[in-house]
Amino acid sequence: MEDCGVSRGLQNRKMDGGEEDIPSKKAKRLCKYREKWEKEFNFLKKSRVGHGHAFCTICSCDFSVSHGGRTDVTQHKRSAKHKRGLEAQKHAPVMSAFVTRNTTEADQVRNAEVKMAMLCAKHNISFTFCDDFKKCVADMFPDSAIARKYSAGKTKTTQIVKGDD
Ligand SMILES: [Zn+2]
Repeated sequence: MEDCGVSRGLQNRKMDGGEEDIPSKKAKRLCKYREKWEKEFNFLKKSRVGHGHAFCTICSCDFSVSHGGRTDVTQHKRSAKHKRGLEAQKHAPVMSAFVTRNTTEADQVRNAEVKMAMLCAKHNISFTFCDDFKKCVADMFPDSAIARKYSAGKTKTTQIVKGDD
């Protein structure tokens, strides 16, 4: 609670457009997401759900921070779900629409390209297919920065498979 840094009266509540319209006397102090937490927790992003939520790029989920603020984040970090997510990410980086600033996007793009190259090789798919795939991947995943930067067409995929790249 100590780190909420939010003292709010009626006015703030209205600005939030909260569903519940509790008079400030009864209202609990609700915490808002703080962007400075992102420096401490590199998996954190602003949530699209609202000010009272944070988005975890590891779990790809929104969780509430409205009651404990930073404590909620710490608790989420310790949760089994988050730990599982972390573990899974070690083996297969998640293609997240939200790329954290500590993860290099280039790595993730590269990972996608290598995976695709391996698939082509495994299934005997013509590398010319990769030219077409490259063109449509950004359309297929419009919310993905990785998809936009995906650039392995025929030539590059061939190089990856041969190990020349
Ligand atoms: Zn998480």
